[in-house]
This record gives sequence, C-alpha cells and structure tokens, in this order.
Amino acid sequence: MTERFDVIIVGGGPAGLAAGLYAARMDLKTVLVDRGPLGGQLHNTELIEDYPGIESILGPELALKMGEHAIKFGLDAREYEPVRTVSVEGDDKVVQLESGAELRASALILAAGGLPRKLEVPGEEELAGRGVSYCAVCDGAFFKGEELAVVGGGDAALEEGDFLTRYASKVHIVHRRGEFRAQPILQDRARANPKIGFIMDAQVKEIAGNGKVTSLRYDQGGEARELPVGGVFIFIGFNPNSDILDVHVDHDPNGYILTRPDMMTSIPGIWAVGDVRSQLTKQIATAVGDGTTAAVAASAYVSSLRDRQRTATA
Ligand code: NAP
Repeated sequence: MTERFDVIIVGGGPAGLAAGLYAARMDLKTVLVDRGPLGGQLHNTELIEDYPGIESILGPELALKMGEHAIKFGLDAREYEPVRTVSVEGDDKVVQLESGAELRASALILAAGGLPRKLEVPGEEELAGRGVSYCAVCDGAFFKGEELAVVGGGDAALEEGDFLTRYASKVHIVHRRGEFRAQPILQDRARANPKIGFIMDAQVKEIAGNGKVTSLRYDQGGEARELPVGGVFIFIGFNPNSDILDVHVDHDPNGYILTRPDMMTSIPGIWAVGDVRSQLTKQIATAVGDGTTAAVAASAYVSSLRDRQRTATA
C-alpha cells in the first residue's frame, strides 16, 4: 500500500516533533514515523532543567506534551513503525517501512537521532542487559546499593554518573584522559558528590562477569587493574542514524549529515535535523530550532514544487 503526503518526518524526538507541529500547523499533510514511542531520547533523560521557559520537567513528561501538541495540530504520528529505507524517485521521497507499506512525499525531514557508541571491549556485548547499560534512567534502579562504573568524560558521563548515585553506593567515573570534556558545571556537581570517585587516564580493556557483570578491567599507567562493580554504564557518545538513507547525502567523517542553514541536505527536498546532523551541540532547544527551520523551509519547497508542476501541466 502506498500513501501520499506533503511531508514525511522520520524520527519522533524533539526535532521531529517540532517539525511535525510546524508542518501540520502550516496545513501540510504530514506524517511522522518512529520505530519507538514519541519522544526519542527524552525517554532516556530523567530531569530536564535547561529547556527555556520550563524550569524542571521529567523527560517522558515532556515527550508526552510535545507529542500531544503536534498531534493537536493534525500531525499523523505513527509510533513503533520502523523505517527500512529512504530513497528518491524524481521529485518523490520514498520511505519503505518494515511493515511493507510505502510512504511518498515531495519533502522529507530526517530526524532519526543516533545510537549509543560501543566501547568494543570483550564482555560488552555478552553482558549487555546483564550489568552493561547505555541508559541510566532506564536501568539505574536495578543497581540499588551496588558499586558502578561509568565510562566516558563528556556531559552524558558526568550527568548520568551523578544521577546513578541515587541508587548506587558508589559510582566510579572511568575516563581515558586526564581531563573531562564535560561542561564545568557538571564537573563541579560530580566533584561535590561524595558518592562519586574518578579514575583518570584509564583504558578499559574488558568487562568481566559470569552471566552478570562482576568487574571492569582497565590499564592505568601501564598497569593492569581491576575494579569490582555490579554494573558498567557506557556514555562515550553516539553514532548518528544517517545510514537509513539509500541515497548519498554529504556527511562529516563521523557520519553526521551536513546541512545548509535552512537544514536542507545535499539532496533537494531532504532536510536533516537534531542529533543526526553535524552541529555544535545536541540539546532539546537546538533540536526544536532545527525542526522548526526545516518545516518552514519544507513548506516553501512544497509550494514552489506545486507551482512548478502546475505550470508544467498548464
Ligand atoms: P561526547 O561529548 O562526545 O563525549 C564522549 C566521551 O567519551 C569523551 O569524554 C570521550 O573521551 C569518551 N570516549 C569516546 N570514545 C571512547 C572510547 N572508545 N573509549 C573510552 N572513552 C571514549 O558525548 P556525550 O557525553 O554523549 O555528549 C554528546 C552531546 O550531548 C554533547 O554535545 C553534549 O553536550 C550533549 N549532552 C548534553 C547534556 C547536558 O547539557 N546536560 C547531557 C548529555 C549530553 P575524550 O574526551 O578523550 O575524547
């Protein structure tokens, strides 16, 4: 079955939902598909306190509000609808869904986010879900009273490490360098937390366990060391989901899609917004801005395409 729209949005995080709200409100026939629930990474975030105008809100609560708001304006939002491929046929952008259905539109906004990067050490894959985790909010409560390791030195590692001390008796932040790249405010907060310890200049070699994580093995200053822990949380960045595109779009060396200021990619009629595109930071506020810009640009594109097609058939 093929369905036709003005705009297709792939991905239902803040970027996709903002694009959906604006596109639907501009009276464009708009569908949004997401392989999971609406809200994307908001579901992996405990407390949000840096979204202007909202002092403090739970991630899943903001997800619900953003979804309802976009749907109120007429967005056709489809959850648990994974995309197989995105291709281009003439002016049409064609989305093949895993369900076998096909969606077509002249404008497509890719808001597909990314997946957590893997450490790629022995034990990581085998013990995933058995003590190895990439989501503190999802799994932290399983480790009440245990000692944990958090691997990474960016915003996510320090913020999630701090969050995990709600449950853990001790959180060891294990970082490969002598300094963190996380924002100073997050470093200060972690340093002020008596339940957090720091293991710097440490190269993780293995996650050990027997059906469940028992320790983290690492090298420090040329010496092999072992840290007994019940869980290992890995926050070392993530890989953008740019590979669902069957066509080549320009991207940076890490796979993040390059866009013009109006978020259009190197392919006319395809925009990229939020965490899938190359940019300075991954914030809810910037994702929402990206989605808004792309929707407005897509609206102008759809109108000019309609005018061109009308002139051609006149
Ligand atoms: P990130 O900023 O890219 O940091 C990744 C960290 O993991 C770095 O410290 C890096 O070490 C380390 N790392 C990377 N590969 C590694 C490997 N193979 N082995 C060991 N360590 C490795 O990623 P992030 O912390 O997920 O943040 C991503 C984006 O989200 C950032 O733009 C961030 O600002 C944003 N974010 C913001 C907030 C907030 O504002 N509250 C919260 C979470 C995330 P090196 O430093 O040595 O490279």
